[in-house]
Amino acid sequence: MLHLIQDSEERDFYQCCDCGNNLTYLDETMSTNFRGRTGSATLFSSVVNVTLGPLEDTQLTTGLHTIRAVYCSNCLEKLGWYYETAAEFGQKYKEGHYILEDTLIERV
Ligand SMILES: [Zn+2]
Repeated sequence: MLHLIQDSEERDFYQCCDCGNNLTYLDETMSTNFRGRTGSATLFSSVVNVTLGPLEDTQLTTGLHTIRAVYCSNCLEKLGWYYETAAEFGQKYKEGHYILEDTLIERV
């Protein structure tokens, strides 16, 4: 019989709506005050089990940003984007962090 090591922290986490792939933890949330393609979106400090697209320059309401699309590594659903760089000084806190669209992820 197999004995799995349980995570004693019991942290709430988010998974991909489509395939159940684990993506990030609730306590990685930096801000819930974002908009994505499909509605509200969340900024997370770190995300796992995703693949990143090529660099893209994009003009957002908060200035010029260089981003990469974020895809689920399992089902390849486009879940949001990753902030590579932000031109505006006041937006620098987003660099190296991830936006996931709320309608595409599920809290567990
Ligand atoms: Zn998925």
